[in-house]
Amino acid sequence: MIQIKTQEEIEQLRQSALMVGDTLAEVAKHIKAGITTKQLDAIAEEYIRSNGGIPTFKGYSGFPASLCISINEVVVHGIPGDRVIKDGDIVSIDCGVTYNGWVGDSAYTFALQGVREDWKQLIKVTKESLYLGIEKCTIGNRIGDLSNQIQTYCQSFGYGVVRELCGHGLGRNMHEDPSVPNYGKKGTGSRFREGMVIAIEPMITLGNKEVFFESDGWTCRTRDFSPAAHIEHDVAITANGPEILSSFDSVEKAIKQNINLEEI
Ligand code: MG
Ligand code: MG
Repeated sequence: MIQIKTQEEIEQLRQSALMVGDTLAEVAKHIKAGITTKQLDAIAEEYIRSNGGIPTFKGYSGFPASLCISINEVVVHGIPGDRVIKDGDIVSIDCGVTYNGWVGDSAYTFALQGVREDWKQLIKVTKESLYLGIEKCTIGNRIGDLSNQIQTYCQSFGYGVVRELCGHGLGRNMHEDPSVPNYGKKGTGSRFREGMVIAIEPMITLGNKEVFFESDGWTCRTRDFSPAAHIEHDVAITANGPEILSSFDSVEKAIKQNINLEEI
C-alpha cells in the first residue's frame, strides 16, 4: 500500500535526504587512489552519527556497513572492505540516513582522474536519465511513464538497463510501495498522487543488462564485467510537480575541490 505523506512529514524526510547528500560530500572529499572502501565507510558512519543520524544500511537485512560502495563492474550493494580505489575507477556510493524516524536514501557515481571517456559518458547519461525520469513525476502520470523514460533514454545510447533491482517508495522505512523500476511501459503502474515520496535510482551498464549476485548475497556485478553507474534522488510528488528532496549540491562542490576526482 502506498503511504501518502503530509507536508510536515515531507519536510522531515527532506532533512534526512539532505544529511545523506552531506554525508556523500564528506566521503567525496576523501576519495583518492589508495584509499580502501572500508576507510570511506568509516568516514560516513562517523559523519552520520556525529550529526545525530543513524546509518540506515547498517544491519539492514544483515548488511554490515553504512555505505554500499560499488566499483566499476559492481552495479550496487558492494560491501566496504579492503578493495583499494584506483585512478580511472568509477565508484558508486549509496547511503541511507534515518533522522527523526525518517529515511533518506541517495547515491552518486564518482569518477577518479584518468577515467575513460566512455565511462564518463555512462555516468553523465545515467544522471540525465534520472532527471528526465523525475520530470515525469506529475499527478496523473503513472510510474510506467517514469520507468519508460529512463529506459528509452539509456537504451538510445546502447546501454544496459538493470532489471533485478528497482527504486521504491520511501518514508519511515527505506523500502515502501510502490516499486519504481527503471524499465517499463508508458501508461502502466500506479498513478502519482500528491504526498507520494519515491526514491528513483537508475542502474545502468556500459554493456548488456545481465547481472549476477556474488556468494556474499549482496554484491551485484555485471555478467560481462562492463562498468555500471548508479545515481539516486528522493522525490516528493506535489500539486506543483516533482520536488527533489535530496541534493547533490554539496557533493558536486566536493568533487570540484578534490583534484583526484573528475567532474562529469
Ligand atoms: Mg540507495
Ligand atoms: Mg534506494
